[in-house]
Amino acid sequence: MAKKDQKLSVVFLPYLAPSHIIPMVDIARLFAGRGVAATIITTTNNALLFRDSVNHDAASGLNISVHTLKLPSAQVDLPEGIENFGQCTSPQLMAKLGYAIALLQNPIEEFIRDNRPDCIVSDMFFPWTVDLADELQVPRIMLYPTNSFFHCVSHSLRLYAPHEKVQSDSEDFLIPGLPDEIHMARSELQDHVKAKSRYGDLINSIRETEGRSYGIIFTSFYDLEPAYSDHFKKVVASKCWNLGPLSLFANRDNVGQKNNSGEEKHSCLSWLDTQKPNSVLYVCFGSMVQFSDAQLTQIGLALEASGHPFVWVVRKEGKSEGKQEESWLTEGYEERMGRDNMGVIIKGWAPQLEILDHQAVGGFLNHCGWNSLLESLTAGLPLISWPLFAEHFYNSKLSTQVLKIGVEIGPRVWNSGFEINSPLVGMNELTKAITFLMGGSPEAVEMRQRAEEISIKAKRAVEEGGRSYCDLKALIEELKAYALQK
Ligand code: UDP
Repeated sequence: MAKKDQKLSVVFLPYLAPSHIIPMVDIARLFAGRGVAATIITTTNNALLFRDSVNHDAASGLNISVHTLKLPSAQVDLPEGIENFGQCTSPQLMAKLGYAIALLQNPIEEFIRDNRPDCIVSDMFFPWTVDLADELQVPRIMLYPTNSFFHCVSHSLRLYAPHEKVQSDSEDFLIPGLPDEIHMARSELQDHVKAKSRYGDLINSIRETEGRSYGIIFTSFYDLEPAYSDHFKKVVASKCWNLGPLSLFANRDNVGQKNNSGEEKHSCLSWLDTQKPNSVLYVCFGSMVQFSDAQLTQIGLALEASGHPFVWVVRKEGKSEGKQEESWLTEGYEERMGRDNMGVIIKGWAPQLEILDHQAVGGFLNHCGWNSLLESLTAGLPLISWPLFAEHFYNSKLSTQVLKIGVEIGPRVWNSGFEINSPLVGMNELTKAITFLMGGSPEAVEMRQRAEEISIKAKRAVEEGGRSYCDLKALIEELKAYALQK
């Protein structure tokens, strides 16, 4: 961008998992909405996931486009069509997809070199973009599609290793040096925190790029975790921008998200219209979690026993041949739930944002994936947090120990992947938590009030003059000034 009247051009490189693609596309759309020429780089099938939103933006005059690459599936023996981690049904497929994504490095580098953007906004999982940005002498901004709290806890664990000073995996320890007293157990920590591993090496190389990047974008918002946002800036990286909640921000003026069925309105939303305000529990564990049949049975039993209406999203392969009903449901379950108007089971992709926003929904049982937690907070809902893998346990501590808007359940054992092998959570534990969250006890009411207060702050953050609004504006201005200096 040599001249003042030229548009700032930025490429956006999302990692190929729904929880990374969704926020990166939102950010690209926000940039485009503020006069930036935005190009999203992804693979053919992933581009279809957000084609409608991008086309809508382009048709309304924004300079936004998608550069698609063919995923080299055959080279790694990956079935055609599997292009993101949300589609992987086994660790083997995940490993193959990981290799295929690594093979995209050359074509991505080639495209970026040919197009010479003014800035690269790169997902954390592409640490090599820091070298490319150095070579092209443009700023590289790293997207951490998470919150500062998680990174502050990780930083403290690396610095003080409190988990090495306890006698057992289940003993609680204090995370030193943080703004609040946060307790965790060793069994909740990711493997790479406790022992050297290849994944740990990748995480280390990502961390090394923190200092070499121009700055870091978080998808959180400042007023959600001001002390942690400041702490991160102080101890890790000085330049950070909080741009969340993106779901509120990027979709504000645009068409609603379509559901997969192609219908105008998902049938679960029509069902929610028939329910009383705040009466329904929404149950969803993100885009990847796969529970055993035995665990699903316990969830189903608990939902029935609690007597609260529910929308339950289940990611599971289809019925066994010749069977009338899913093997993980007790006999006559779906029929009973339908007859008594008790609940809806969605097998597949649910319109989560619309569900959370529906006035009938009063609580959320989830895995504390960051996007789900943030979406829940944005909607002002208290939650039952059942952390399972990745950084869920840290997010869960944020929700229960700092924000105090949820209750945690589960065996406190981290799973190394999306196939859940940690000890079963029985129907009694689940029913107790559901009854508490959806009931009217003073503690539950206070949690709901706190969640509603956070929702107000979330909305304020993205309004004109709000912290996220200002962070976005400041970031784009800074990048423009940088590009003009060259
Ligand atoms: N999501 C959705 N419908 C579904 C499942 C997930 O819209 O049926 C969205 C959800 O709104 C969130 C993302 O997918 O934006 C899941 O991200 P999260 O970080 O919660 O979990 P992950 O998928 O990484 O486990």
